[in-house]
Amino acid sequence: MCSETIGIYLHIPFCLQKCRYCDFCSYPGRDAAEKEAFTEALCREIRHVAPLYRDRTVDTLFFGGGTPTLLSSDELRRICACLRDCFSILPDAEWTCEANPATLDDTRCHALRTNGVNRLSIGMQSASDAELACLGRVHRASDLPPAVALARKHGFTNINLDLMMGIPCQTLASFSDSLDAALSLAPAHLSVYSLQIEPGTPFFAQKDALPLPDEDTEEAMYALLLARLHAEGFRHYEISNFAKEPALCRHNLRYWLRKDYLGFGPAAHGCVGNRRFYHSADLSSYIRDPVASRREDPPLLPGEIEYETILLALRTDRGIDEIAFSEAFGHGFRSCYAAALAPFRDAGLLCCSERYTALTERGMRLSNTVLAGIFASDAAAHLFPAKIY
Ligand code: SF4
Repeated sequence: MCSETIGIYLHIPFCLQKCRYCDFCSYPGRDAAEKEAFTEALCREIRHVAPLYRDRTVDTLFFGGGTPTLLSSDELRRICACLRDCFSILPDAEWTCEANPATLDDTRCHALRTNGVNRLSIGMQSASDAELACLGRVHRASDLPPAVALARKHGFTNINLDLMMGIPCQTLASFSDSLDAALSLAPAHLSVYSLQIEPGTPFFAQKDALPLPDEDTEEAMYALLLARLHAEGFRHYEISNFAKEPALCRHNLRYWLRKDYLGFGPAAHGCVGNRRFYHSADLSSYIRDPVASRREDPPLLPGEIEYETILLALRTDRGIDEIAFSEAFGHGFRSCYAAALAPFRDAGLLCCSERYTALTERGMRLSNTVLAGIFASDAAAHLFPAKIY
C-alpha cells in the first residue's frame, strides 16, 4: 500500500442557466434523462479507474461543477456509494460539494450528509440582487440564509461561501454589505475572487461597456476584506481563501501543494506524480464512452514541475518549503532565484523564515508581479520556456 493519500475531483456539468461570466464546463437546461445517463457514465468511469489506484487511500473528495446539486438525491447517493465501493476512503476524509443557494433542498441535503459529504461550498457571490442579476446568477440574496440554515439543520458545520469582487456596478458600500451578510451567517471558510472577464463569455463580448469598479475601488474592497476577516479571526491561507482554523480546504491545498488527485467527469483534470490526465469537455461523448474521454499528457518535465511548484506554493501563506524544494530539484529556491527575489523582499512583498519563503499580504495582492519577476529572470532559463509566466 502506497502511504501517500490521493484526492478525487468529480465534475458535475449541469447548471440551470449560464452565468454571464462563466467559462467553466457547464451545460444549462439539460433534462432528467441526460443527468441519469451522466450519472451512469460517471460511475462507469469510477469503476474503470479505481483498480489502478488500489494501493492509495482517499482523504479528500470534491463535487464541483457546474451545479452538483442539480443531480437528484438518488443520483448523488449512487455516486457516493460507487466511490465507497471502489476506493478505500479514510473515515475522516473531507467531502465537499458545491451548491447553489437556489438548488439546495431538503432531500439533496439529506442525501449528501448521510452519504459522507461533510463540507458545503455555497456560491453566494453577492448580497445585492442587482449584482446577482447582472452576473446572470439564478438565485436571489434572500435564498442564501435559508440554504445555510438547511445545511446546518442537516449537520453541516463546515460551510464555505464564495464571494466576488469587481462585479459591474459594485461599490465599496455594496461589497461591504455583502461581506456583512456573509459573516452574519458564520461560515467557517470564505473564498473571495475577483471577477475575471474570460474570452467566449457574454461579459467578454461587452467588456468595453461593462461598468466595472475602478482599480482604486477594488483596492479599497481588498483592504476592507483583509481588515474584516482578520478581525473575525480568519486565516488568509491562500491568495483568495480565508478560513477559521481548522477549516482550511484540504482538497484545494492538495492542488496548491501539488499532491496527487484524480479527476472524473467532462473537463476534469487529474495529476498523479508527473502525469497529468484530462477529459474532453464534450458531454455527449463523455456519456457515450467516459473511459475513452480520459486522456493523458506526456509526463511533465522537471522544469515544468519546478515551474508549477513555484507558481502554486507561492499562492499559500506557508509558501515554498526550502527543504522539500532542494530535495525535489537539486537546488534551493532562495539560492537559485536570489537575484529575482531580492527586490520583492526589499519591497515587503516576500517574507522568509528559516525554512519557508512566502508572499506577504501585500505580495498576495501583487502575486502576478512577483511571479512574472521570478519567471522572467535569468535563473528561470532552465524552466520550460513555453510556460514563462
Ligand atoms: S453556476 Fe457556476 S458553473 Fe454554473 S454557469 Fe454559473 S458560474 Fe458557471
